[in-house]
Amino acid sequence: MANVSNKSATNPYGWIAQSLQTLHRANWYRQVKPIDGKGGAVITIDGKRCLNFASNDYLGLAGDPRLAAAAAAAVTTYGTGSTGSRLLSGQRPIHRQLEQAIAQLKGTEDAIVFSSGYLANLGTLAALIDHRDLVIADGYNHSSLQMGARLSGATVAVYDHNDLNQLQQHLVTKRAQYRRCLLVTDSVFSMDGDLCSLPEILDLADQWDAMVMVDEAHGTGVLGASGGGAVEYLGCRHRPMVQVGTLSKALGSLGGYVTGSADLIDFLRNRTATWIYTTGLSPADAAAARAAIAILTQSPELLIQLTENAHYLRKSLDQLHVQRLPSESPIVCIQVKDAATVLALGQHLQQQGIFASAVRPPTVPTSRLRMTVMATHTQADIDRLITAIRSF
Ligand SMILES: *Cc1c(COP(=O)(O)O)cnc(C)c1O
Repeated sequence: MANVSNKSATNPYGWIAQSLQTLHRANWYRQVKPIDGKGGAVITIDGKRCLNFASNDYLGLAGDPRLAAAAAAAVTTYGTGSTGSRLLSGQRPIHRQLEQAIAQLKGTEDAIVFSSGYLANLGTLAALIDHRDLVIADGYNHSSLQMGARLSGATVAVYDHNDLNQLQQHLVTKRAQYRRCLLVTDSVFSMDGDLCSLPEILDLADQWDAMVMVDEAHGTGVLGASGGGAVEYLGCRHRPMVQVGTLSKALGSLGGYVTGSADLIDFLRNRTATWIYTTGLSPADAAAARAAIAILTQSPELLIQLTENAHYLRKSLDQLHVQRLPSESPIVCIQVKDAATVLALGQHLQQQGIFASAVRPPTVPTSRLRMTVMATHTQADIDRLITAIRSF
C-alpha cells in the first residue's frame, strides 16, 4: 500500500497554522482571560483587583451564597450528574420545579430546560421547521439562532437589523411559497443592547400566518417589572410565541429554556434532538437557577438597582459626548473606529483596573467597547469607568 500514498503531499493540517496567522494579522485573534475567583462587580485578574463591566451576571447572583447553598444541597440530595437523558434516568424533581418556576416568571403555560441556551436554540429551530419552511431573521441575531436556522434546513431570509420594512418585504415576496413561517429575533441584542420591535413583529406574524421565536437571553431577569424580560417590558406577555432564553446570565447558573404553550413544550419534549439525546441539566445548575428566580421574585430592589445603574452609565457616557449605540438595556456600547483602537482602549482600561470587552469583527460588524452594568455596581464604580474612558 505504501507506494499508493503520495509522500510529497503537504501537511493536511498545515492550513490551521496559516489560518491562525491570518487572524493575528487582522487583529481578530482571541485569547481567554482567566478570572481568579468568583465573578461579580469586583473581580481579580492576574492577582489585581478590577471593576468588572464585562459580565452577563446582571443581578450579581452567580456569586451569591444563596445560589451556592441551593446548588450544594442539590448535589447532596441528587448527586453531581443527572446520569442520563431526561426521558430515561436523567429526570429529578428539581428539573420540574425549575421549569414551573420559569413558566411562572414568564406567565406561560409550561417550560422545558436544556443544558445551555445555545442547545435550546439549535434544537428548537430544528424541531419547529424543516426544508418546506421559511425563517425570517434579524441580521444581528445571536450565533445560536443563525446556526439553528441553518440546521433546520429551512430557507433563511435575513433582514437588516430591526428593519421591519425589509421583514415585511420578505413576507410579501416569499411567505406564500412555504408551509410554515417563523420570525426569529433576539429580544435584547447581545452585542448592541437595543431591543427588537416585538409588538410590530407579532402583528406581522398574525397577519401572515407566521410563528415568532424570541430569544430573551439578555432580557429575562433584566427587563420588565417582575424580571419577565423584554416580552413583559414591551407588553406582549399575553401573545402566543416561542420564548427561549438562558439560565446563565441574570439567573447566574447554566442551562437554557424554552417557554410557551403546554402543547409547544410537550411537542419539544418529543421532537427536540438537543434535549432527547443529551444528559439532563445537572441538579446543581437546576437548583441554582431556581434559587435565582426565587430571589428575583422576592427582591424587586435588585431589578430596580440594575435599571438605575444602566440609566446612570448611559447618561454619564452621553455627558462625555462619545458615540454610543442606542440601548435600552444594561448592555451599553461605545463605537470605536477599528479593531486595533478598541484593543488599545480595552488595554488602557485594564491598566486602570477596569475590565470591559473590546468586541471586534467577526463577532460584530464594527468594533466597539461593550460594557455591561450589574445591580451590584455602585455609582462610584461607574464614575471610575467614566474617568478611565475619558483619560484614553
Ligand atoms: C448567551 C446567549 C445565548 C446562549 O446561551 P448559553 O446558555 O450561554 O448557551 C443565546 N442567545 C443569546 C442572545 C445569548 O446572548
